[in-house]
Amino acid sequence: MNSRRGLMLVICAPSGTGKSTLTKRLRKEFPRISFSISYTTRKPRDGERQGIDYHFVNRDEFNTLIEEGFFAEWAEVHGNFYGTPKDAVLELLDEGQDVLFDIDVQGAAQLRESMQQGCYVFLFPPSLAALRQRLEARNTDDESIIERRLNNAPGEVEEANKFDYWIVNDDLDSAYRLLKSVYLAEGTRPSYLPQLPDRILHHKKI
Ligand code: 5GP
Repeated sequence: MNSRRGLMLVICAPSGTGKSTLTKRLRKEFPRISFSISYTTRKPRDGERQGIDYHFVNRDEFNTLIEEGFFAEWAEVHGNFYGTPKDAVLELLDEGQDVLFDIDVQGAAQLRESMQQGCYVFLFPPSLAALRQRLEARNTDDESIIERRLNNAPGEVEEANKFDYWIVNDDLDSAYRLLKSVYLAEGTRPSYLPQLPDRILHHKKI
């Protein structure tokens, strides 16, 4: 069963829901999962590395990439532009690697349309108050950016109906267990396992 196709695991959540913590944990437990490294016009935060967390580009470079058809999807999110490189993702999937996407709801809808595959998970915060608390505690963005992200959260939640799975992150361990179950279950769909195992195909009559 070497020719397994890679699975696209797309995870969306309002900023501050705990998405990065959960996805980091999933990738740590399953190193075979690759991460789709997006392009963005956002400035790097402290500790973010070029080509690892994001490909940081300016607006002109981003526009050129759009014109070249480089992106599988792209969107303006909280005032910055973000996009998913198409060829890099297709290469990973062809190699049989599972790919995790941390993108916004607009991007997820476009990705489903352009790729016609994948598992789409929406992660809910326990409440808007909890979201504010987490964004403030994280201390990576100034107050105006936090407000902008909080204002966008209800609109993002309204898009949740378009997703395949819903997980509420009110307890990190429980949310992680659910995410892991979704990932493992999706990977057992026949569409990701193109061949039946030899021992089943070529069995002798018992
Ligand atoms: P942040 O600036 O906090 O890293 O990300 C802000 C938002 O942009 C998050 O919701 C994140 O999921 C989303 N995002 C990151 N990369 C992409 C991308 O390639 N495409 C889209 N549509 N959204 C992205």
